[in-house]
Amino acid sequence: MHIQIRLWLNRFESIAEMIIKDKNGNITISQMDDTIAAKERVIAWPRMGNIDLSMEALVSSLGAKIVMPPPNTNQALEIGVKNSIEGICLPYKLNLANYVMALEKGANTLMMFQAPGSCRFGNYTKMAQKTLKKMGYEFDMCVFDMYQSKMKQTLKAFWHVTHCLNPYRYYKGFSTGFNKAFAIDTAERLLFYTRPRELNKGDAEKCYKKWYKIIHETSSISGCKKLKKQVIEDFKTIPIDKDRVVPKVYLLGEFFVLLDPFANQEIEKTLGDLGVEVERQIFFSDWLEHVLKPSFFYKKESHRERCVRYAQDYMKRAIGGECIETVGDTVYGARNGIDGIIHIMPFSCMPEIVAQNILPKVSKQEDIPVLELVLDEQTGKAGNITRIEAFIDLVKRRKLKNIKESV
Ligand code: SF4
Repeated sequence: MHIQIRLWLNRFESIAEMIIKDKNGNITISQMDDTIAAKERVIAWPRMGNIDLSMEALVSSLGAKIVMPPPNTNQALEIGVKNSIEGICLPYKLNLANYVMALEKGANTLMMFQAPGSCRFGNYTKMAQKTLKKMGYEFDMCVFDMYQSKMKQTLKAFWHVTHCLNPYRYYKGFSTGFNKAFAIDTAERLLFYTRPRELNKGDAEKCYKKWYKIIHETSSISGCKKLKKQVIEDFKTIPIDKDRVVPKVYLLGEFFVLLDPFANQEIEKTLGDLGVEVERQIFFSDWLEHVLKPSFFYKKESHRERCVRYAQDYMKRAIGGECIETVGDTVYGARNGIDGIIHIMPFSCMPEIVAQNILPKVSKQEDIPVLELVLDEQTGKAGNITRIEAFIDLVKRRKLKNIKESV
C-alpha cells in the first residue's frame, strides 16, 4: 500500500514538472513541440469500436477541433493494404487508412497510443509517420507512450494538442468520456445477453442503436452520469425468453479485432443471430479503468491478474499483446461453465500466434471446444460464417447432452 501511494505521488510530481513558470511568470508546458499552434490544430485518431465516443467527449471539452475518418469499410482497407508492407498486421493497415482519410478531410494532428517492446504495435507510429510523409502529407503526430507512463502521458498528450490549462475542462472531459465509455459498454453487454433471448427479432439491436445515438449526443456531466442506469432500465423492457437454452461463448483474442466490428466481420451479431450469448473478454471501459485508475483503488483482482493466475499451468509470463489474457480466459471459461471459446486474431499477429499454439493443449486438458479465426484482407466472410455455424452446432449439442446427463 505504501509503495502504491508513493508511485501515485511520483506520477503527480512528474505531471507538475510539466508545468513551468518562466522568468516573467508566464506558465508554459515543458517538452512541447509547437509545430502547429493549438488553435489551428484539427485532431484525428484511428477508429476502433466505440472509443470515439469517449475521445470526442474529452477532446472537444478541451476546446479542440476534431475530424473523424469514416468508419472502417472495404474502401479503408484498400487504402491501408495499398500503402503498407505486405506482412504487417490488419490493425496497422486500417489505422493507416484512417489517418489518410482524416488528413484528406483536413486533419493536421494525429493522435496514437504506443506501447513499444511487446510486438509490432511499438513500431506503428514511426512506420505510419514515415509512410504518410512519403505520401506528401504534412501533420504532427502526437503519441501516448504507455510504456513511459500512463496518466502522465495521457495528460501530456492532451496538453500538447490543446494547450488547455483549465482544470474544469479536464474534469468535464474525463468525466463525460468515462461515463460514455461505461454506458456504451453496458449497452453492448446487454445487447449480447438480450439478442439470443429476445421474443421479437431485432428489438435488442434497435435499443442498442437508440442508446448509441443518445450517448453520442449527451454532453452534460449530469446527463452522462445517468446514462448507464438508463441503458440498463431500457434493456429490461425488452421481452425475452429467460428459459431458452442459450450457449455461452467467450470471444477473445487481439485487442483491435475484438473491438472493431469491421475487422471482426461483426462476429458478435452473427453469434447472437445463431442463438448464442457472447461474452467478449475485452471492453474499452475495462481497459481505460485499468490504465488510468491507480491499482490501490482496486478492491478485487483485476481481469489481467486473473488471467495471469489461470494461465500459469500453460505459460509462466506475459509475452506481449493479449496472449496471456487469451490463455488465462480460456482456462477460466472452461472451469466456470462456458460452453465454447472463439479466438480471433489478425493474420501474423505475433502474441496471438503463441496463444494459438498453446490453445489446443488447453482445449484438450480443460475439455472445452475452441475455434480459431484468423482475419486479414483476404478473409472471406462466407467461409468464416460456415465455420462458426459448424462450431456452434457442436457447442449446442454438447450443452444439450450435458443438460440431459445432469437431470
Ligand atoms: S498484437 Fe498482434 S495485431 Fe496487434 S499490433 Fe501486435 S502483432 Fe499486430
